[in-house]
Amino acid sequence: MIALVATSAVSINDRCTACGACLPTCPTRALLPGPLRPIVVADRCTECLECIEVCPRDAIEEPRR
Ligand code: SF4
Ligand code: SF4
Repeated sequence: MIALVATSAVSINDRCTACGACLPTCPTRALLPGPLRPIVVADRCTECLECIEVCPRDAIEEPRR
């Protein structure tokens, strides 16, 4: 049996410099400040992808299908 893990939220990769620019752009407050980079609260993310547009480091990735 193959288990598929469904993700429905963006993810943040190690290009993130923790600049914080993405945090206020999230309409559902799914991005919270974290110790190294923002934390994505997956069940709040609506996949609007607005945060991807503002990240200067191209560090936010779309959900994998
Ligand atoms: S995709 Fe939209 S809802 Fe999800 S973290 Fe980014 S701005 Fe927030
Ligand atoms: S805008 Fe990009 S580089 Fe800045 S904190 Fe968000 S994910 Fe990290």
